[in-house]
Amino acid sequence: MPVAAVGIGSNIGDAAAHVRRAFARLAELGTVVAHSRLYASAPWGVTDQEAFVNAAALVATALDPHALLAALRRIEAEEGRTPTYRWGPRVLDLDILAYGDLQLDGVDLTIPHARLRERAFALVPLAEIDPRYAALRDALPPGERASVVELGSR
Ligand code: ADP
Ligand code: MG
Repeated sequence: MPVAAVGIGSNIGDAAAHVRRAFARLAELGTVVAHSRLYASAPWGVTDQEAFVNAAALVATALDPHALLAALRRIEAEEGRTPTYRWGPRVLDLDILAYGDLQLDGVDLTIPHARLRERAFALVPLAEIDPRYAALRDALPPGERASVVELGSR
């Protein structure tokens, strides 16, 4: 089965609890092969909001990429995400960071995630559970990498 890398983020309410809950919800979509520790990261894009808690998970799933995206959106909604503005605060954000070795460039879905290379909050957790991303993580500007700090709990 293909293994999808899913990026998880939250910055509303008990963000760490929302991220842990996401690990459990992802298990409904296949097998969670690994999940990262939790990390705190400064907001990105729109900086006037609460800090984020981020993590990543590797999910072996029979869902194809579009079905996976639809399932992630459904889980986001069921966990209480309501639409705000781009990069605004959210109860739960679930992104497909990668899907096996697939490369896809569609209107509503780009794989690997279009901004993966520049997002320390995605690369730091992902490299923890998938060493193939260590080089990309290590290529981040040092200040950005250092801004993603382990929360120290699973
Ligand atoms: P972001 O995750 O960039 O902060 P959103 O969660 O609001 O922003 O997602 C915006 C849109 O990005 C989604 O509606 C989705 O269609 C699109 N998208 C494109 N590629 C991906 C991907 N790899 N994973 C998740 N969403 C993606
Ligand atoms: Mg998203």
